[in-house]
Amino acid sequence: MENPLSYRDNVLHIEEVALDTVARRAGTPCYIYSANAILCRFRAYDKAFGDQAHKVCYSVKANGSLSLLALLATAGSGFDIVSGGELFRVLRAGGDRSSVVFSGVGKTAEEIEYALEREIHSFHCESESELFLIDALAARLGKRARVAVRINPDVDTATHPYISTGLRQHKFGIDIAGVEGVYERARAHRNLDLEGVSCHIGSQLLSSEPLLEALDHLLALVERLRAKGFPIRYLDLGGGLGVPYKPGEQAPSISDYIARMCSRVGGRGLTLMVEPGRSLVAEAGILLCRVLYRKRNGDKEFVIVDAAMNDLLRPSLYAAHHEILPVRRDDRRGTIQADVVGPVCETGDFLARDRQMANVLPGDLVAIAMAGAYGFVLSSNYNARPRAAEVLVAGKGWRIVRQRESYEDLVRGEVV
Ligand SMILES: *Cc1c(COP(=O)(O)O)cnc(C)c1O
Repeated sequence: MENPLSYRDNVLHIEEVALDTVARRAGTPCYIYSANAILCRFRAYDKAFGDQAHKVCYSVKANGSLSLLALLATAGSGFDIVSGGELFRVLRAGGDRSSVVFSGVGKTAEEIEYALEREIHSFHCESESELFLIDALAARLGKRARVAVRINPDVDTATHPYISTGLRQHKFGIDIAGVEGVYERARAHRNLDLEGVSCHIGSQLLSSEPLLEALDHLLALVERLRAKGFPIRYLDLGGGLGVPYKPGEQAPSISDYIARMCSRVGGRGLTLMVEPGRSLVAEAGILLCRVLYRKRNGDKEFVIVDAAMNDLLRPSLYAAHHEILPVRRDDRRGTIQADVVGPVCETGDFLARDRQMANVLPGDLVAIAMAGAYGFVLSSNYNARPRAAEVLVAGKGWRIVRQRESYEDLVRGEVV
């Protein structure tokens, strides 16, 4: 899959746009996304299914910016949401409500009612009490709810413990061992259509094996449920495909993964669904920032930039690695080993540690690569820092799709 970043005349470009041009008008810190990189990945998923009935439902929590949702909606994507707010965003962006699936362990009654009224595709339920509540609310509204139980297949994923979800000890899903009983008891709920099975075993998976293992468990379950008379029509395998954050890291190819998935499913009359988040948007985005200062404390060299953990939390939260690229490449300057840190008053506020990187100086622009997923969405106003602007690039064109927050935005809704 091609990378949207490249150096032209030693200036870093995303698609055909020079990053210093964007910084001049949009300011820093600023998230910048390549529309074509996102579309290219979406089409890789969509095409690989061939004539297998399927739906690709982009996982909104990876990046819920309206412009990205609109881009994917136009390309024919469905959406995987985990809150009422995400449903609101999808609808605001012009997404098709009938291809929205609602996941999450803690859906509130208000959120369920909102989704029932909008007639989304289905609910992925994570407990028996949730099935009970959805049925009761659907009855009150005179609606039917299509549901799948989210299965916890007890598959180990070898990813960061914070983003692994498919083991029995995790809060997600219902243990596959007892799930048939759950479907049986749910038969009594008159307003539910039990038509699916779903799972999502973790994120940033650098092998598709655990996903295919989970698929095998789910396919066997589909057979057992069908034998009991449940009309199971769809199987949703969730998201989770990883991306190569570190140089030399290998991620599974989207099309190979989907092809292997399809070959296991064959002609069972199932619609296959997937919920990719990271693998659609991570590589398409960067966080552009400016070097404020350089300093040395003892043996340690620091590069202080104008973006911080409130803008990009992943390094602080997961010790995640993001490449740091100078916008103007000048090999004569050599390299340094440094911590790249932001202005937030926390020792945990860093974007890179002990990093061998270009010898950047105050005033230089740097790009933090592969920041399109779980970047802006995890940003906050900590230290009363306005959240960054967002820019969408397509070919030579680009536009600001989210204004940088102002100081007034910081106090909206507050009273003295
Ligand atoms: C987070 C999440 C996804 C997306 O995961 P990625 O690793 O970003 O692909 C899909 N489905 C559910 C239910 C999720 O919670």
